[in-house]
Order: sequence, then C-alpha cells, then structure tokens
Amino acid sequence: MRALGIEEPASAQRGRGFVVFPDDGSEPIVLPYSDGSYGLACEHHVLVEQLRAAAVRHPHVTYRTGARFTSLDLEALSLGAGSLEMTDKESGDRERVRAGRVVGADGRSSVVRAASGGQAEHVAVSRMAGLVLEGVKLPYEGFGHVFLGAPGSVLAYRIAPDKVRICVDLPQSVGRLSDADLISEYGPHLCESLRTCFIAAIEAKSMSWAAIRVQRRRFYGREGASLVGDSVGYYHPLTAAGMTLGFADAIELSRSKDHDGFRRRRLRNIRVPELLAMALYEVFTDRSDEMAAMRHAIYTLWRTSPTECARTMRFLACQDTRVPSFLLSFVRVMRIAGLELALPKNPAPLKRRAQMVGRWFGRGVSMASGLSVPMMQKAAGRLGLETSDTSSKVT
Ligand SMILES: Cc1cc2nc3c(=O)[nH]c(=O)nc-3n(C[C@H](O)[C@H](O)[C@H](O)COP(=O)(O)OP(=O)(O)OC[C@H]3O[C@@H](n4cnc5c(N)ncnc54)[C@H](O)[C@@H]3O)c2cc1C
Repeated sequence: MRALGIEEPASAQRGRGFVVFPDDGSEPIVLPYSDGSYGLACEHHVLVEQLRAAAVRHPHVTYRTGARFTSLDLEALSLGAGSLEMTDKESGDRERVRAGRVVGADGRSSVVRAASGGQAEHVAVSRMAGLVLEGVKLPYEGFGHVFLGAPGSVLAYRIAPDKVRICVDLPQSVGRLSDADLISEYGPHLCESLRTCFIAAIEAKSMSWAAIRVQRRRFYGREGASLVGDSVGYYHPLTAAGMTLGFADAIELSRSKDHDGFRRRRLRNIRVPELLAMALYEVFTDRSDEMAAMRHAIYTLWRTSPTECARTMRFLACQDTRVPSFLLSFVRVMRIAGLELALPKNPAPLKRRAQMVGRWFGRGVSMASGLSVPMMQKAAGRLGLETSDTSSKVT
C-alpha cells in the first residue's frame, strides 16, 4: 500500500504480532513481528473503501458502480481481445466491453474462474461466528490474541480504538453446540474481559455462524484471464493470510509478461503459506494424541527459540516463502513431538506408544507432502497415506 501511495486507514490499528494462549493453560506465548514490520487491523469495508478510492483516482481506471460482470467470451480471449458482458444491477441494461486482458478479482464465487475453466474445489472445515465488542480491554494490547483449548480456536484483535473483534471457530467435526455447551466449552479458555462479553452475546442470541471453507490455490486462470485473491483459493482465517496473498498475486501479475510465468511463480511461492495455514489449523484443532504432541512441540520451540518465533512470523507474513527454511522448522517440531510420544516419560503402555508414533509419522509425512516436494509426495504414496492433494473434495 505504501509503494502505491495509499494511506493506512485512519481507524486502522497497528498489530505488533500475536499472543498464543496454549490449551494446557500454561503462560501465553508472545510472537512479535521482527524487523520493524507490523500488521494492520480494521473493519473490512474500511480497507476496501480506501483501496477503491485509490483505484478511482488513477487516470487509467474507469470504475463502474453497480455493474456486474456476467459472462466472458473465451474464444475472443484466445485471440487477445476478450469480450466481457456487464449487467447493470438496477436497470438490468447489458453492455459489452472488449479487453486484451481480464483480471478476475471477484472473490470466492468468481465468474471469471468458472468462465476460464476453473472448478469450485472447496472443502467445508468449520463454522465461525464474529462479534464486535466495545469498551473491552485486551491483556496484550497491540497484539492479535489466539485462545486455544476449546473445540476450536478463538481469535481476538482490536479493529478500531474502541472496538475488538472476536472470531469463534467451531470445527465441522464437532457439529453444532447448544448455547450452554458453547459457554462451558469456550468460556474457560478466554481471558476474563472477553469471557463476560462472549457469554452475554450468546445469551442475547447475537452470534450468527457462517460456513468456513478452504480451497487450495491451484488454478490461476488462463492466458488472457488471470485470477488474483480469493478467486484463486482461500484458507481458514486463523492465519489471516487472505489479504497478504491477494496483494502478492496482484503485485506478481503486474510484474509478469505472461500468464504462465505469473502462474508458475505464484505456485512456487504459495507452498509455504498454504501448508502453514492448513497445518496450523489442523494442529490447533485436532484432539488426537499425535496432534497434541505436535502442538506442545510448537509451544516448546517458540518458548526456547526467539529465532524460531521470528521465523514463524516471517512465514505468517509471507515474508519468507522458502521451502527449505520451512522444512527446517517443521522437522524440529516433528522431532520434539516424536520424542515426547516415544520416550518412557509418555505414560501410555508400550504398544499404544508405538501406535501413537506410527500415527505421528504418518500425519507428519502427509502434511509435508502439501509442500509438493516430489520426495515427500513419493514417501506419502509409498506409505499409502492420504496427501493434502488427494484429500481435497468438493462439498
Ligand atoms: C471470517 C473471515 C475472516 C477473515 N479474516 C481475515 C484477516 O484477518 N486477515 C486477512 O488477511 N484476511 C482475512 N480473511 C480473508 C479475506 O477477507 C479475503 O482473503 C479477502 O477479502 C479477499 O479479497 P478479494 O478481493 O480476493 O475477494 P473479495 O473480498 O470477496 O472481493 C471480491 C469483490 O468482487 C466483487 N464481485 C464478485 N463477483 C462480481 C461480478 N460478477 N461482477 C463484479 N464484481 C463482482 C464483489 O462484490 C467484491 O467486491 C477473512 C475471511 C473470512 C471469511
């Protein structure tokens, strides 16, 4: 935004990093951004208005309010002169526009994606309720708060000087919970100030739930019709990567001479943010022994290594997308978790310990195969494991 001369929205709050409240009730872990970087938090519409106003000011942009793009002539597109049909939402009037290049930035139900041959490949993972609370103090002001221990994670961050947003995740595997169960399952894992408001919101029936879906970022459109942002794919909001990835798509496309180069570079750079988003959600939500061991291994690594904390934050901010760098941290987590399960300090009988170790290894290889490193995928295939590629299904 700075490079484009776009101001930060006046009400936006600068975020210095995240604080994770572990599921075992141990001390919170602070993960600050390094190198003077910071995040921005604000209401979604505030950012959209700021970006839209900047686009409208550009001398080469004609912005049409209320016009919906309804179809795309692919044959003309292959000749380098695409033809779009737009329909005015109010009058219903239709208009054809010719374009040499179309950029589909039309979100999750992208018409450009469908018209250029992309399938919807999303998987429903959970339901989420968002609440905006006023007059609430957070224990670590300036940081995003992640509360673990309930069936799903709870994310809380300040979006304006007087407003805090909380996002409550309820995994698909848990199903629906009654109000009383929501209070008893989630309440104890929140800090005091949020707990009171959370309970009041449930009692006032002011929580509305929306489906959270995940779609891996595999299809970027075709020559003449490139996709950016959520029209390519999207992950669980836990790692808050959606905007960063959308901006990165747009920057890469603006620098690319052709669609194929754009697609290849984005596929290469998406592997780490994608695996991080999918793996962190799995590790923070799954209640199995092997995932609990992975969770505790992550806490241990963060508590003992400021270097690993800084590295995690660079992965989260998409500042480091190198596969070897990510694999190094991943192997460290796997090693700590493996030892926790295998060594005699694990009180489970030997046979059960062996089963846990087997499952830990399988899950680790299956996760790492999401990096699309041929060696990992081959190993997962040999072990007959479900890789992240084969596990995607349409719902
Ligand atoms: C609950 C939740 C919480 C999230 N939290 C975060 C977070 O904390 N941080 C973060 O970075 N990301 C977050 N995200 C993800 C983030 O919101 C998205 O990644 C981001 O909005 C994607 O931007 P986009 O422009 O690609 O798509 P969208 O924001 O969906 O915008 C698409 C636009 O295209 C328009 N459009 C669609 N179809 C047509 C058409 N046919 N003709 C004309 N216009 C059309 C739509 O009206 C819309 O304005 C969250 C997502 C969810 C669901």
